[in-house]
Amino acid sequence: MKTFSETLHAGFDQVMHLAGPPLADEHSDFQHIQIFDTKANGRVLALDGIVQLSDRDEAAYSEMLAHPPILEHGAVKRVLIIGGGDGAVAEEVLKHRSVEAVDLVDIDARVVDLSRDYFAHVNRGAFDDPRLTFHARDAFEFLAETASGHYDLAIADRPDPVGPAESLFAEDFYARLQSALAERGMGVFQTGCPFFQPDELRETMTLLRGNFANAGVYLTVVPTYTGGFMALTWGANGLAFGECDIETLTRRFHAAGLKTTHYTPDMHRAALALPPWLARLAQG
Ligand code: SAM
Repeated sequence: MKTFSETLHAGFDQVMHLAGPPLADEHSDFQHIQIFDTKANGRVLALDGIVQLSDRDEAAYSEMLAHPPILEHGAVKRVLIIGGGDGAVAEEVLKHRSVEAVDLVDIDARVVDLSRDYFAHVNRGAFDDPRLTFHARDAFEFLAETASGHYDLAIADRPDPVGPAESLFAEDFYARLQSALAERGMGVFQTGCPFFQPDELRETMTLLRGNFANAGVYLTVVPTYTGGFMALTWGANGLAFGECDIETLTRRFHAAGLKTTHYTPDMHRAALALPPWLARLAQG
């Protein structure tokens, strides 16, 4: 294989030129897993032919999924990561000393095994942190067995709504997740690139508003996820994202002693600014 071609959006293909033979290429019980080095995008993880992670720009995604909700909340102790088998988001969450326990629920243990081997420079020992428990489970089923009010934060580091991940975009998923959150808890969700996936944002926001008192969207840009802005949506009952002023965020950021590549309190506040076309989509 000299090139990897991704067709995620109708009428658009992304082609990456490989920098050598694939590092991993196998079919697990759930999906086709590929890991390869590329000439322009660094080391890439793809599942069923769809790019999940590139080590060149994963920080723009994992840092922006983890740090904004933790710093907005201010006292996150128990975290649920849905999906996230590459460990990138887990590594960011575990940077916070206030975090006491992380449950990472990924349906496919082979993604974790291979990410330990080939993305150790990204997940940096997260899977060996005593605070983290890995559950090789369908997160939709895991949530059905989760005690209510258990988590301060749930992060849906989910792929696109295909294959085993379809259940992670259904109405019941949000209802179950809402029940698993504590009173001031918050859920944050990978919600695609609205330029190519407007319906994913529109539909997610409608379902979030049906299950949470407060809901909204903030933005990041991950060049490997082509299409410009990536939407990260959130839902909460006891607090609202964006309430924290820059002084509070800055104080919490420095108190946590965070070393980041992409996240800063200014980027956090800027992520809340939506262009009108995207704000209209988020109205559902
Ligand atoms: N950053 C990526 C993105 O934005 O598309 C997502 C990365 S992460 C690798 C996605 C993970 O979700 C995969 O490891 C996959 O195995 C897992 N997954 C898919 N469906 C799942 C389900 N129903 N329950 C738990 N994990 C699931």
